[in-house]
Amino acid sequence: MLFNNIQRERIRDLETPFYYYDLDLLNETLDHAKHAADKRGFHVHYALKANFNDRLLSVIQSKGFGADCVSGNEVQKAIDLGFTADKITFAGVGKSDKEIILSLQHGIFAFNVESIQEMEVINELASKLGVIAKVSLRINPNIDANTHHYITTGLDENKFGVPTSELETAASVIRQAKNVELIGLHFHVGSQITDMNVFKSLCVKVNEWKNWFEERGTQIKVLNVGGGLGVDYQLPDDNPIPDFETYFEIFDRFLERAPHQEVHFELGRALVAQSGSLITKVLYTKSGVKKHFLVVDAGMTELMRPALYQAYHKIERVDTDQEPGVLYDVVGPICESSDCFGKEVPLPQSERGDLIAIRTAGAYGEVMASHYNLRDEVRYLYSDALNLSPSL
Ligand SMILES: *Cc1c(COP(=O)(O)O)cnc(C)c1O
Repeated sequence: MLFNNIQRERIRDLETPFYYYDLDLLNETLDHAKHAADKRGFHVHYALKANFNDRLLSVIQSKGFGADCVSGNEVQKAIDLGFTADKITFAGVGKSDKEIILSLQHGIFAFNVESIQEMEVINELASKLGVIAKVSLRINPNIDANTHHYITTGLDENKFGVPTSELETAASVIRQAKNVELIGLHFHVGSQITDMNVFKSLCVKVNEWKNWFEERGTQIKVLNVGGGLGVDYQLPDDNPIPDFETYFEIFDRFLERAPHQEVHFELGRALVAQSGSLITKVLYTKSGVKKHFLVVDAGMTELMRPALYQAYHKIERVDTDQEPGVLYDVVGPICESSDCFGKEVPLPQSERGDLIAIRTAGAYGEVMASHYNLRDEVRYLYSDALNLSPSL
């Protein structure tokens, strides 16, 4: 259950929809991840693109995580919120000159470079600024992450990374580039990966390519294996915290590394997804010949994942303990047929005004909100505001 009785009273009259963030769960999740990583000497950068809400970012920063950014604005945001430049990585296939210059000026830890041409541009801009850019080469290892095709990134057909057929050329360009220092290799094969064998396969590829570079006389200091660890969208209450121990243990066992080699991770979803829920109110109930609909006041403008990748989110009533008895299609108000959060969702008989939670919405939720249909700005509520004295 998301809310106790006192909390239910408190949220009853709040304006909906809003994101609810459970800061206790966030803290606990971060502590688990940090502990499992620290004891193996691993470095974890939080992928801001999963959620760059200021409050959450401050908590994440305070725990000692680094930042993984995919735009100049994310780099700037990370700096503004206290992440130090030496813990910031910058990835993405389309870094603009302006974004590269900004990151060079801040002196970030590393650019994860996605093409030979990008490497040349970074070299040129670094030379103009009179600095040395530290880069990791993003290798596309051609691994099937067994996940939705929209969120797999490590196959030859994806746009990400340098294909292995071009590595020879990349290595020679790097050797000649005077303002670029290759510090590492970078891999990121997809998101919402729950099959741990994918990470074992990744380790095998990382070992292969690390050896390939070392045989050619290039020392590799940083092995950045990206992110992608999945969460349990089906059973958020049973598995609120991902199994970081097993995840990091795989890399500890299967990655070959010398004592001077650092292992870096870029986790997004796994650190924040379960801490967020989208709370929405039933506006209307509708029954067709075969269907029962609940029209709620949140839509794809607040949470786009179902419309974008047919993603599953658990949907539940938060204001009652009644057992489910009706199958509802839960739909939003936006003028698109894809604006549907779930089909045939078992819920208690529901009426106008009832409150619903769409769970596991802390990652790739609020950050993808849009103004389509000129919708309001996203609202949010943090758990500590609900846990204050009962007189509030
Ligand atoms: C999106 C992204 C991540 C984070 O992915 P999660 O699945 O949220 O862990 C990490 N690294 C890169 C390069 C990314 O693009």
